Amino acid sequence: MPASELFEFASQLFPLHRSLTGSGVRQTLKIISDHIPIQIHEIPSGTSVFDWTVPKEWQINSAYLLDKNGKKIIDIKNNNLHIVQYSTPIDRVVSWKELKDHLYTIEDLPDAIPYITSYYQPNWGFCLTHHQLQSLPHEPYHAFIDSRLFSGSLTYADLVIPGKSTREVLFSTYFCHPSLANDNLSGLVVATFLAKYLLKLKHRQLTYRFVFVPETIGSLTYLSQHYFDLKTKVIAGFVLTCLGDTNTYSFMPSKTGTCLADKVALKALADLAPEYRHYSFLQRGSDERQYCSPGIDLPIASIMRSKYGEYPQYHTSKDNLQFISSKGLVQSYQIYKYCINILENNHHHYQTNCLGEPHMSKRCLYPTIGRRSLAPSTRDMMNLLMFSDGKSDLVTISNQIGLSFKQAQKIARTLVAAGLLKRQPPSN
Ligand code: ZN
Repeated sequence: MPASELFEFASQLFPLHRSLTGSGVRQTLKIISDHIPIQIHEIPSGTSVFDWTVPKEWQINSAYLLDKNGKKIIDIKNNNLHIVQYSTPIDRVVSWKELKDHLYTIEDLPDAIPYITSYYQPNWGFCLTHHQLQSLPHEPYHAFIDSRLFSGSLTYADLVIPGKSTREVLFSTYFCHPSLANDNLSGLVVATFLAKYLLKLKHRQLTYRFVFVPETIGSLTYLSQHYFDLKTKVIAGFVLTCLGDTNTYSFMPSKTGTCLADKVALKALADLAPEYRHYSFLQRGSDERQYCSPGIDLPIASIMRSKYGEYPQYHTSKDNLQFISSKGLVQSYQIYKYCINILENNHHHYQTNCLGEPHMSKRCLYPTIGRRSLAPSTRDMMNLLMFSDGKSDLVTISNQIGLSFKQAQKIARTLVAAGLLKRQPPSN
């Protein structure tokens, strides 16, 4: 796969005006469906999903602000962040006093346009740079928003890629942000290419489920329809978000911090990118809020690059195609591919075949001359045997003994071949 493919895909999707619902979402999913065979679903506005209700569909045709000379000073044709997402329609001259309460800027980032939403409270507004706001004369303006809120539907998509086992790995990502690259176009891109990779992977051990939803209301909707299924099948899952830049990796654990997804993510980070930032679940912010909520309690973690809310460009026009890169997207894709490789090769628990330390030297696995200290390779072997208690899988053991997953795999194979270790199916 040429590295540029991921970035080109991001560039293709970037301009579309996505929101919680609407045509930008459908266009996005249509383009994704050219790559992977997703199933697209429409859930009618007004449907109850747990404590929430699927909102009305939003259609935005055009929006601009005219000065007294009829000059367009803001136009969503130039940047779809210029409108408060889910703005109600307006077509009238408004006083400066009224208008200023509907204009949004970021004082600390004066040349960035903020991303603002008002999904559940009818409102209208424009977003602009603070510099532009400061340059505007305080006079009446003509506010024009051609939008429609109507009983339509919320769109989401999923794809189940079956493996030998019905045990599932969930990848969930969200598409509700308009032209914002790291949060979360990067998640859509990496999800699509991981699904492409898995579709070509022969002899898949596990089943993989990809979910494309609008954040929060979409994951709630998906869970309200599938959570019995997910609860019985999902052994590990990841929220794919903020995967496009090249800054230090970030790790968001599951609520317990000890599930399979945590162990796999930590192993992948330790092996490929040990300089990562380990966040607390208390700093959560994406769909793990739903997947890990009480009663749902799915084993979901997240590996990110710059975490949402933690980088200055977040939720602004600065989170654009210049902020992400081909390199960042490909590295993120590779780290999740590595997670998949761990999961595909982690379907056994290991148990030693004898009580006490096995007599290694009679099997030519131990030096026959006793020295002051063990060679590292011998110590690794003894450590792996020591933690092979029949209750632990290889990713757990490799984390405990500080070996890469590949090193642990190699030693386990040697010990199985020597008859010292047996593999057994996991109990759960
Ligand atoms: Zn966001």
